[in-house]
Amino acid sequence: MAKVEEYIPIVGQSIIDDLRLLAEKLKGKVIQQINSTSVGGGVAEILTNMVPLLRELGVDTRWDLIKGGEQFFQVTKKFHNALHGRSEEILQSDFDVFMETSRENIKEVNIYGDIVFIHDPQPIALVEKKTTNKWIWRCHIDVSSPNQKVWGFLKNFISKYDAAVFSAPSFSQKLPIHQFLISPSIDPLSDKNKEIPQETIDAVLKKYRISPDKPIITQISRFDRLKDPLGVIEAYKRVRKYNICQLILAGGTAIDDPEGAKVLEEVKEASSDDPDIHILLLPQNDIEVNALQRASAVIVQKSIREGFGLTVTEALWKAKPVVASNVGGIPLQIKHKYSGLLCHSIEGASFAIKQLLNSPEYATKLGLNGREHIRNNFLVTRHLREYMLLFLSAYHTEDIVYL
Ligand code: UDP
Repeated sequence: MAKVEEYIPIVGQSIIDDLRLLAEKLKGKVIQQINSTSVGGGVAEILTNMVPLLRELGVDTRWDLIKGGEQFFQVTKKFHNALHGRSEEILQSDFDVFMETSRENIKEVNIYGDIVFIHDPQPIALVEKKTTNKWIWRCHIDVSSPNQKVWGFLKNFISKYDAAVFSAPSFSQKLPIHQFLISPSIDPLSDKNKEIPQETIDAVLKKYRISPDKPIITQISRFDRLKDPLGVIEAYKRVRKYNICQLILAGGTAIDDPEGAKVLEEVKEASSDDPDIHILLLPQNDIEVNALQRASAVIVQKSIREGFGLTVTEALWKAKPVVASNVGGIPLQIKHKYSGLLCHSIEGASFAIKQLLNSPEYATKLGLNGREHIRNNFLVTRHLREYMLLFLSAYHTEDIVYL
């Protein structure tokens, strides 16, 4: 793991000095972070980066997981989709399954934090254990138009927290508690984002039998319908009528996402007739993700809904031209025609990909603008600062705190 001072050349000395000052003020407080998976997906990614840095700064931060069986994660995935606005039939039995596992976790999970920081809906009911400590709920989902049945159910828990955190202004909801807007971030020095030698990139392409000679279009995502992998294949097929290119769809699995295997089958089926489509089931391997992103001519994120889209952040940080849907947190990262191209449809995505493949100078410019936009707004150092201010604000509830 990188040390805090290694970020100075990237963000400047004064930002690191600020972090140390804030950390000093949190001395003696224990921050307990809780979510449902240690690998797979953006939440685990962020915690993996942030927890060691907070600890190095001297903030006593620990990370715990709740437990859940297949049925529980099927229900929470259904909730996740419904909160993202996808039509789902939510039954009373789903709430019963959720509550049954929640009751077990309430019994089993040891709560010791001065500040308990709960991520997403899966562990939300732990708030029943609230005593005099501070509880914050961190929502990573695009809840701009949630299914009201699920939102209403969760709201009963959220209202018991001291504060809630959302990733984008459009996600905030009417709630009786303080709300904060904090966007996610990437770690520029992690294995996923650090500079790597060309030989490593070449070796990864060789491992997966991908030719370096044809421009590569890539989407890195869990195999999830909301990431629209079939739409990406369709867009690529339209591009390849005019441009020589190849497609990589690379994704791993997350234990809290039971739909993955089925979607992967559909993706394999839709791509079986084209040897230039590479479906990669990546083991958790950040260097390989890094290499594939760096090897790409264009990165795509054609999500139907997206909490934030860390894959977009990762690609922009690598100065890659990105084509991504105008949903969720993506427009915070991509200013259309400045730091990437936004799209609204398969046709729009294929048009934008063609434009980037055919105008390398324009593509390079968008990528470079994207990198600076990420440097200024979406690196882990900004995120650490805002989280520490958030934790401090928990002890100053009578003041309004703007981050
Ligand atoms: N990711 C990965 N391997 C994969 C698929 C995804 O390491 O096979 C990472 C990806 O690089 C990113 C995170 O998982 O860091 C996904 O975060 P994002 O916000 O894009 O989507 P989420 O999965 O949280 O919906």
